[in-house]
Amino acid sequence: MKNIIKSILALLVALGLVIVGVKKFNIGDFQSPETIRNKSEADQNTASSRMTYGRFLDYLEMGWVKQVDLYDNGRNAQIVASSPELGNRSQTIRVEIPVGASQLIQKLKENNINFDAHPAPRKSLFVTIASNILLPAIFIGALIYFFQNSDMGGAGSSPMSLGKSTARFERRPDTGVTFSDIAGIDEAKAEFEEIVSFLKEPDRYTLVGAKIPKGILLVGPPGTGKTLLAKAIANEANVPFFSVAGSEFVEMFIGIGAARVRDLFKKASENAPCIVFIDEIDAVGRERGAGIGGGNDEREQTLNQLLTEMDGFKENKGVIVVGATNRVDILDAALLRPGRFDRQITVNLPDRLGRLGILKVHGRNKPLDTSVSLVQIANRTPGFSGADLANLLNEAAILATRYKKTLITNNEVNEAVDRIIGGIAGASMEDTKNKKLIAYHEVGHAIAGSVLKSHDEVEKITLTPRGGAKGLTWFTPEEDQSLLSRSALLARIITALAGRATEQVVFGDAEITTGASNDLQQVTNLARQMVTRFGMSNIGPIALEDENTGQVFLGSSMNPGSEYAENIADRIDTEVCKIINYCEQKAIEIVSDNRVVIDLAVEQLLDVETMDGEKFRELLSLYTLLPNKKLPYISKFS
Ligand code: ADP
Ligand code: ZN
Repeated sequence: MKNIIKSILALLVALGLVIVGVKKFNIGDFQSPETIRNKSEADQNTASSRMTYGRFLDYLEMGWVKQVDLYDNGRNAQIVASSPELGNRSQTIRVEIPVGASQLIQKLKENNINFDAHPAPRKSLFVTIASNILLPAIFIGALIYFFQNSDMGGAGSSPMSLGKSTARFERRPDTGVTFSDIAGIDEAKAEFEEIVSFLKEPDRYTLVGAKIPKGILLVGPPGTGKTLLAKAIANEANVPFFSVAGSEFVEMFIGIGAARVRDLFKKASENAPCIVFIDEIDAVGRERGAGIGGGNDEREQTLNQLLTEMDGFKENKGVIVVGATNRVDILDAALLRPGRFDRQITVNLPDRLGRLGILKVHGRNKPLDTSVSLVQIANRTPGFSGADLANLLNEAAILATRYKKTLITNNEVNEAVDRIIGGIAGASMEDTKNKKLIAYHEVGHAIAGSVLKSHDEVEKITLTPRGGAKGLTWFTPEEDQSLLSRSALLARIITALAGRATEQVVFGDAEITTGASNDLQQVTNLARQMVTRFGMSNIGPIALEDENTGQVFLGSSMNPGSEYAENIADRIDTEVCKIINYCEQKAIEIVSDNRVVIDLAVEQLLDVETMDGEKFRELLSLYTLLPNKKLPYISKFS
């Protein structure tokens, strides 16, 4: 109903605009030349041209003017004249008459010229009323109406709706997402299934005195399906659903964020049972007083309001607030107290089976060739989030379309994985010395990775540039990346250094290139973490640095620049250097020991550009004690 009124009003406004346009045309002081031309069409033979007033006076003097018609109270004139320069033919010419040229009439009389004045047309009664009363009234009415209703569409930017919540509200949401569309995060899903059943049959719970949490916090990295979960509950429970991003509460003016929170919760309790989803809740829920310069008043007010509101509504009333964040560590403690977000659900990156489940969900509506093994993709993609996996299959579908295939084959899928991990492939390089050097560098990585115990297997070596890299060696990542042994870390450092070590062994010190800068960065990071976070150096099992900020803990944070802090920093550097030097030695050793097979592998690689891990291992097994990969290659270093 409101919409109909709105459309009618819009129509009226449009009509108003047209009428105003017409009005301007007819009754304005200035008459557009257009009108003049139309009015004098009768006595017009040729299209009228223009003439200055001064020239017109000259024409009068010379007696070349035959007739003059005046319009707009003498402001415009149309004359008929003939002169030698006009080819002695009568022509109609327009002249603009300056204000105050009052002697003109006198002159015309003196020269005995036929002239006439034409009055402006009379306004009709309707136009008069319309222009003076009706139109302004409609405009003002419409403006007021639009201002008052602008939060309906969620625009929220108009001044009169500043304090209104911008939450998208759906009474009977059809988000199209069901629990069957979500895989790999079973714990969170189970929790939500319970919530849905509470919303559907609250009595079952209240009968036994159960309390349903008011607030649920979803914590996890981006793309793991937090929003998806919220959409699914809305759909499955079939209750009204408010969805808002935390950043929408953060406003420039003090008090507006708080007003929005108030408004949101007012609407929510009017519509209970319902679900309020606040994405990126850390935008409002950040610890108070943590900002530089004593914190941010506006945000604090907003957060306080949120806390008050969550305290305000009763348990089991049916308003359930779901928050999502990936930074639970920066949230204000008050937000996590009982009665607020007292239930936290961690949504982690999916494991292998989870990835498989997610791939199945997203592969459902895609034509996959039988060559595509979802299991294999799941194996290849540790660390991928649900969003990454969805993106992967989509990318593969796009590639298949590009290659004009009707089915998505294994090729497209592999290409998509490579693209997502490594970036878009560039054109392959010319056969130059550089290419040879890159081939040696990559084979160096591959050799070290293969002979070292506790290193991931080589998946493929390629000379096709991708992203910023000119060549790449891919390793099949181990499933559990979160627990790495000391020898696995060292193996990684050695492998990363082996590329450069190969350049050095094969081409000599002078020929080492800048190509290894990325490797070196990685190496330094790893070694540093071994010292400062994992207690894997001679300093011992002490956490010396903060995981997130990289700040040195001891000394410097309490007393920056103190002697003690400098001491610790020195010792860290020394230990880092020790690890790296040790690993470099090992890398050079491995490369020198395997020089023959490296030369062979490079030769083949230059030929085929991309070599499978399988093929590489085959070659390697002819020359190296590969089956003895279990040999403890890494001894303790001091
Ligand atoms: P978040 O809110 O955690 O950042 P989203 O819920 O917005 O992540 O996820 C983005 C997209 O990724 C979803 O629309 C969906 O296509 C896909 N996705 C993420 N996690 C999953 C999952 N567990 N199961 C299925 N698809 C998922
Ligand atoms: Zn490298």
